[in-house]
Amino acid sequence: MSSLFPTYQRWEVSAKSGKGTMLIDTNGKEYLDFVGGIAVCNLGHCHPNVVDALTNQAQSLWHVSNLFQIEGQEQAATVLAEQSSGDYVFFCNSGTEANEAAIKLARKFTGKNHIISLANSFHGRTLGSMAATGQAKIHEGYGTMLSSFTYADLNDIESIKEQISQETAAIMIEVVQGEGGVRVMEAEFASQLQELCEQHELLLIVDEVQTGIGRTGKAFGYENLGLSPDIITVAKGLGNGFPVGAMIGKEHLKSAFQPGSHGSTFGGNPLAMAVVNAVLETIFDESFLKQVEEKGNSFQTYLKQSLGELPIVKDIRGLGLLVGIECHEPVADLITKAREQGLLVLPVGPNVIRLLPPLVVTDEELQQAAKILAQVVGSKTAAI
Ligand SMILES: *Cc1c(COP(=O)(O)O)cnc(C)c1O
Repeated sequence: MSSLFPTYQRWEVSAKSGKGTMLIDTNGKEYLDFVGGIAVCNLGHCHPNVVDALTNQAQSLWHVSNLFQIEGQEQAATVLAEQSSGDYVFFCNSGTEANEAAIKLARKFTGKNHIISLANSFHGRTLGSMAATGQAKIHEGYGTMLSSFTYADLNDIESIKEQISQETAAIMIEVVQGEGGVRVMEAEFASQLQELCEQHELLLIVDEVQTGIGRTGKAFGYENLGLSPDIITVAKGLGNGFPVGAMIGKEHLKSAFQPGSHGSTFGGNPLAMAVVNAVLETIFDESFLKQVEEKGNSFQTYLKQSLGELPIVKDIRGLGLLVGIECHEPVADLITKAREQGLLVLPVGPNVIRLLPPLVVTDEELQQAAKILAQVVGSKTAAI
C-alpha cells in the first residue's frame, strides 16, 4: 500500500542509479533511458560537470534569500540573456512557475488580460498555466478556469487572427508541442505569427520548457523557426534534474516588474545556480549543439529506415532529439514491451511514442534504440 496520492500511474520499475544514457533498476537491470525524467536529464544521469558543481556548492552555501546579491544568479542570467532574444531573467523552480511569471508579466506590462494559446498545448498544472493549457482533460473537474485564455489551432494562422481583439495581450506557443503529441510548428506559420504580433503589438511568449536548453539542436527551439520572442520560459533541462525554472524577457518589459511585483523564496538559490551554470556551460557550446542537431537527424533516419515501412506506423517526426513515432493504434503495450527489452520510452496521447534521449547519447545507442523499437513495433504489426 502506498501513502501517495495516486496522481501518477507508476511503472513496475524502481530506479537505483544512472550514468549517461543508462539507468539501472533495483534488480540490476540496465535500460537505455530515452525518457530522461521527461526531457529533464539533457546531459544524461550524473554528468560529472553537474555532479561537481552541485557537490562543491553544497559544501559552501545552499540558500540565501533573494534579498542578497547572488553571484551565480547574475552569471546564469547573463548567459541566458546573451543566448536568447531576451535581456532580463527571473528564476523560479519549475516550468509551470516560469509560465506563471510569463503570464503575470504579460498582463502587467500590457494592462490586458486575454492571451491566445493553442489547442493541444501544455503549459503546466498550476491554476494559470493549467488555464493556458489547451486540453480539456487537464481542466476536467477543477471548476471555472481563468477565463482570459482562448485556444487557436497550431499551423492555422486564420484561427489566431479570429481571436485577436483589443483585449489581447499575448500569444503563447510551444515550437514543438511535446505533451501534445510531438507536433512541430511550421516555419510559415511561425513567421506569420511573428508578423501578427508586431502588427497588433502583442507579446510573443514561447514556452521552451521542453524544447529549450539544447533539446532541438539549438540553445532554444524557437531559433529553428527564426522567431524573436518577447518572453521565453525554460525549466526541465535547465537543471538536469535539479528543480529550477526561468522566465526571460525583452528589455522593454523590465519596468513592469518592480520590487514586490513577483517573487519566489527558492527561485535562483546558490545551489540551483551552481547546477544551472554547469549545465549552460556544457550545452551552450557551438560544437555540442551542432552534434545534437546531427544526432537528431541520424536518429530520425535510423527510425525511418527500420520502422518507416511498417503498416502500423503513421508518421515519424520531431526536431533535434525530441522525436515522436505516431502509430495508427494505441501504443501503451509497445511502451511496456520496449521497457522489457531494455528501452525506456514514453507514450504521449494514445498513439504516439515519444523519444527523449539525453543530448549526450551516442550514435551506437541511437541505433540500438531504433533496433529495439523496430522489433517491438514490428511484432505488433505481425499480429494484426
Ligand atoms: C513539462 C512542461 C511544463 C511544466 O513544467 P513543470 O516543471 O512540470 O511545472 C510546461 N510547459 C511545457 C512545454 C512542458 O513540457
